Amino acid sequence: MPRIQPLPDLLISQIAAGEVIERPASAVRELVDNALDAGADSITVRLLEGGVRSILVEDNGRGISDDDLPLAFRRHATSKIHNLSELELVETMGFRGEALAAINAIADCSILTRTAQAAQATLLHGQSGDLSPAARPKGTTVEAKELFYSVPARRKFLKSTNTELAHCVEAVRRHALARNEVGFAIWHNGKLIEQWRAGSVQQRIADILGSEFAANSIDIQHHQGPLQLSGSIGVPDIARHRADMQYLYVNQRHIRDKSLAHAIKSAYGDVLHGQRQPVYALFLRLPPQLVDVNVHPCKTEVRFREAREVYHILRSTLTTALATPRAHADNHTTPAEPVNTDAAPHYQSSAPAAGSAAYRPYPPAAIGARHSVRELQTLWGSGRQAAAQQRMHELDDTGERFSLISALPDRQPFHAAGTSRNDSEDGIDDDSNTPWPLGNALAQLHGIYILAQNHRGLILVDMHAAHERIVYEQLKNDLTTDTHTVTAQQLLVPVSFTATVVEIAVAQEHADTLRQLGLELDRLSATGLSIRSLPQSLANADATALARTVLAELEQHGASNVLEKAQNEVLATMACHAAVRANDSLTLPEMNALLRSMERTERSDQCNHGRPTWKQLTMKELDALFLRGQ
Ligand code: ADP
Ligand code: MG
Repeated sequence: MPRIQPLPDLLISQIAAGEVIERPASAVRELVDNALDAGADSITVRLLEGGVRSILVEDNGRGISDDDLPLAFRRHATSKIHNLSELELVETMGFRGEALAAINAIADCSILTRTAQAAQATLLHGQSGDLSPAARPKGTTVEAKELFYSVPARRKFLKSTNTELAHCVEAVRRHALARNEVGFAIWHNGKLIEQWRAGSVQQRIADILGSEFAANSIDIQHHQGPLQLSGSIGVPDIARHRADMQYLYVNQRHIRDKSLAHAIKSAYGDVLHGQRQPVYALFLRLPPQLVDVNVHPCKTEVRFREAREVYHILRSTLTTALATPRAHADNHTTPAEPVNTDAAPHYQSSAPAAGSAAYRPYPPAAIGARHSVRELQTLWGSGRQAAAQQRMHELDDTGERFSLISALPDRQPFHAAGTSRNDSEDGIDDDSNTPWPLGNALAQLHGIYILAQNHRGLILVDMHAAHERIVYEQLKNDLTTDTHTVTAQQLLVPVSFTATVVEIAVAQEHADTLRQLGLELDRLSATGLSIRSLPQSLANADATALARTVLAELEQHGASNVLEKAQNEVLATMACHAAVRANDSLTLPEMNALLRSMERTERSDQCNHGRPTWKQLTMKELDALFLRGQ
């Protein structure tokens, strides 16, 4: 019969360390946590052999006084909280006082530290507890050598040097992304491998997530009640196969949260292709009382008091951000390519023909590469919208095929509420000067692409993909929210067509569902159906082909499923069906009408399958192609 015995202290620490220090990267994370908690604004991490041989973290923080130093490696000894109420308000990364003890239990540790008041630095050796005078400026250096030397079982689980190094670097990146005011450097085996200088949030995001992300992301700024949400989310085009560039922070702490990850993923739902993973760096801030950080051994999970609100705010903010057409933002010149109207006269001289809207650069006041959602909405909903509508009416006569486009309802939420901004404040003096973000159509290429020119250069539009999205959004818009019914339009002359026995059976069995989709079909005979109404937005579509497509879809999915889960799918099919196809030839006014409605349609930057609908080739990129100015 085994006896119950208390474990020796060292073994207790080693067991506890197993929870917190899994691999070198966990120690790196804890040591950088401590440096940040000490108020450092410069942190250097030096690693040998992926951190397994040695991890050294140097900071310029406030240091540890000689009185406190002997307690630093003691378990459950901390300077950060003293009681329960302080735990509830904790704003530091650490608060349990166990990281240094855990690292010291599995490695050969030392601390070299000096406060501003101290006459000299002090060195504490972890194993022996020996203190000795030493030299260094204010700040702290913690070194951990020979990780897991005392726990060979754990050492066996370590991966290659490169893998461990990658994890260590990732641990520092996670901190660095949320701490743009702190400079970081990482050395490996004596070589500087990463360096991020203190700077703006934008700069840091670009440093960590790369310039491609920086150039293809949407700024998020949202305050609601006590919650602040900020950061950047990647446009759907730069989504990845793996979920490896998703950074979510709560009060500057990097966390994993299944529910919030789901909120984000679902905001991308209608614009992301298949299994692709969005890229984002998002920072939630809320008062410490509203979040419990003490729920996970590694502190990588938190619990929210108002979890549902947080979920909802995150999801709705991102959904709105992703729905807003981006041409409006892209049309503003990036700081890297300042608008200089004097320097670019030759681009201006190729002005569009009379009668079409002239373009011109936005005034410098509007410059900014990336715009907050709010700015975008204001831009989108301002006087430009009225001008757009006016213009739509002019185009109506000639762009008949897109008459559905002019029927697009005003998207109320995107109007700048209650403002009557005057146009010149917006940089637009009159209608003829309205710069269309997607430019003026020039031609159609091989029956597939529309070529257009805006002040930045060339716009290429996949016309089917774009139109498909417009019709789809229109159909979704037409769904009355309470009855889930698509607004129908009765046909003056019903259209009859020869139908199969199956089609007729499906039409009769699912008559109600069809009506909800805006389609009324009557049985004419044993081999014929007649169409009495079509969805209002598809009134100009090929009625027979549309009816057949929907009947096939209904047969496949079954009616109940169509109305609940697959309704959007059926609408998407209808949209695909009604959209212009390859080789449909479009007139310039039709092409312009399509561009204008893209500018006004939510999610129009992606087709219904998540692929991009348009691309910009700037004059700079074109010049580079031709080696101009080199
Ligand atoms: P915790 O961070 O939870 O308090 P740690 O074991 O990580 O626990 O650290 C113990 C204590 O050592 C901290 O509370 C802090 O007072 C001190 N300390 C550790 N690292 C540093 C550092 N880099 N600069 C200043 N003080 C430090
Ligand atoms: Mg700590």
